[in-house]
Amino acid sequence: MLILAFLAPSDYLYHINTLQKQPIQDLQQIAILAAERLEENDRFALQVKANSADQMDAVVHRINKNIEQKIDCTLCGNCCRSLMINVSEAEADSLSSHLQVSRASFDDTYLEKGSNGMMLMNAIPCTFLEANRCNVYEHRFEGCREFPAMHLPGFSKRLFTTLMHYGRCPIIFNIVEEMKDEMGFEREG
Ligand code: SF4
Ligand code: SF4
Repeated sequence: MLILAFLAPSDYLYHINTLQKQPIQDLQQIAILAAERLEENDRFALQVKANSADQMDAVVHRINKNIEQKIDCTLCGNCCRSLMINVSEAEADSLSSHLQVSRASFDDTYLEKGSNGMMLMNAIPCTFLEANRCNVYEHRFEGCREFPAMHLPGFSKRLFTTLMHYGRCPIIFNIVEEMKDEMGFEREG
């Protein structure tokens, strides 16, 4: 009660609303809604861009704290099932050593290499995904640790890529929907 007494009325309402709301986690439902909301999300992107980057980061980070704790990634695993992961030399060294295989064998088995030296995991879903869990979790790649990056600064700069994953990642989907509510976005075109 003491804490709520220091919140502005809009913060208080936000607190109550987000505590009550349950995020949508059904991947099929999210994919359908995402396909329906392409134009809506383009309009929402314009509204985001009209605000300062710092303001948007503050909103996203606050909503993320709430959504993140309601979504269990081990029940989803959709990013590991559908994204191609970048791998650095240092990451390949570290994981090959953890798996106790030579770097050459690791590269042959798991990696695809571009002519520009870029390395990617060669399988989608990722080879290391087992029953929605990463079996090399402590040694997973930087890209895996960061995704969906809603805790990082620079949301406005990453808006295009974030919205690309809106139909794939329940965390992104629910944060964006919560932002639309909070920012008074008009959903009807
Ligand atoms: S390494 Fe682990 S966290 Fe990364 S994509 Fe593969 S299964 Fe997912
Ligand atoms: S980060 Fe998103 S897509 Fe990946 S497992 Fe968690 S909720 Fe699913």
